[in-house]
Amino acid sequence: MFLQLSNHTFVRHFDNMSEIVNQRNDAKFFLQDAEPFLRFISCKPQTDKAIVAKIAKFYDCTQEEIAPDFADFIQSLQGAVLTGDTPEELTAQEPEFRYYTEAEAEVEMTRSSPAKADKKEENDDFSLINDFLIARKQITSLHIDLTDTCTERCVHCYVPEYGTNTLSFDVICKVIDEYRAMGGLEVEFSGGEPMCHPQFCEILRYARKCDLMITVLSNLTLLNEEIVKTLADVRIKYLQTSVYSMIPEIHDAITRRPGSFKETVRGIELMRKYNVPMKINTPVLKKNFDSWHMVEEFCADQNYKFSSNATLLAKVNHDCGNLDHGLNAAQMRDYLSNCQSSNPWGPGKFDKQLDDPMCEICTIKLRLDASGNYYPCTAGRGLILGNCYHDTMQEAWHSELAEKLRDLKQRDFPECFKCTNRCFCMACPAANFNETGDLYKHRPVYCMEPKIKYQLCKGKSSC
Ligand code: SF4
Ligand code: SF4
Repeated sequence: MFLQLSNHTFVRHFDNMSEIVNQRNDAKFFLQDAEPFLRFISCKPQTDKAIVAKIAKFYDCTQEEIAPDFADFIQSLQGAVLTGDTPEELTAQEPEFRYYTEAEAEVEMTRSSPAKADKKEENDDFSLINDFLIARKQITSLHIDLTDTCTERCVHCYVPEYGTNTLSFDVICKVIDEYRAMGGLEVEFSGGEPMCHPQFCEILRYARKCDLMITVLSNLTLLNEEIVKTLADVRIKYLQTSVYSMIPEIHDAITRRPGSFKETVRGIELMRKYNVPMKINTPVLKKNFDSWHMVEEFCADQNYKFSSNATLLAKVNHDCGNLDHGLNAAQMRDYLSNCQSSNPWGPGKFDKQLDDPMCEICTIKLRLDASGNYYPCTAGRGLILGNCYHDTMQEAWHSELAEKLRDLKQRDFPECFKCTNRCFCMACPAANFNETGDLYKHRPVYCMEPKIKYQLCKGKSSC
């Protein structure tokens, strides 16, 4: 029998625990003492006998002693490890992504993959991994704004001004090396518009060489054949783009770039031509309130993954002027009543005690802006933990501010702790800081969305 790791499988080891994740079929495993076997399995086809021989030699035991355990081990990793009688059979099993026609999509829905077969088990492992990583403060997700430069000027954007800061290729490689050495898994490239970076393709290739799971946020206005082929070659997990409306004038009025709707749609077609996975997201604002649902219909028709959201972030300099483009209370109520398929929401669980951490800030995620500043979360661009030109990632991760943020407790936010709407609200300290300059103080308008959710839910027996 031949076997290999799927080219979409990523493996990380933490002490005696191993995380094994496949980005295409969502197979996830969290195993104890698996490293001694996993170290001999690669993305190149080998026979099981050859691998067992290597393991036996390494551990100075007989192949007969190892073979049964190894067979069970491989059997338990379906979806992450490919097995077959020939190397060609392995290639044929790779869970490669492709866009389906409507008829093909229906057939696909009826097929089951090993990962889909036991959703409960998969979710159990997912939550085990997540809890383990959070408790360990193990960085696993890094977002990098490659450049501040952008081709669009979206009315609701949280970037205060469009500078020309761009991270050099060398510093990005240094950051990626440090991240990899710390056990990082996922990297997300954004901006500004990441494709404005002159070495965007080289950066993608470097991240792939370092065995990182790559996602990209882009408006697709600069997508060309060279870039889309690179996105396909490096096997990105997916690219997310924003479409605001199927009425070009409305989309362009939000991006403030005439012709941007046409450019983004051309980019979407190119992504489809090369079968690169993509998600389309629609931020819902006053300007596209009457037409955002057209994007959802377009995505359903074309079989694109679709999501929407109506929560805006203030600019990082605490200027909240961009929030005026957000929905008013009546529109928010209407949106929340109709968005379950693209932005499912319901009462979250709020069962925290006063001494529990406020949130997951600085536990598994880190972000880097185009001027080299490390910051903790999307909303917290002003919370600077260090700078990659002067500090190592380790230093930023363990900086005084990072430790202070990790130490935020529920008791530090008494009003939120007793709030009726809390199970609908993130009560986000970074958003507080972004909007008011104070971690502990939120703007009253921040409470509008949770309050409406509470009211809507109270009207239903299920809540
Ligand atoms: S709705 Fe307002 S007061 Fe209530 S938890 Fe959220 S931020 Fe705090
Ligand atoms: S709730 Fe806010 S501060 Fe906490 S992790 Fe999420 S985004 Fe960051």
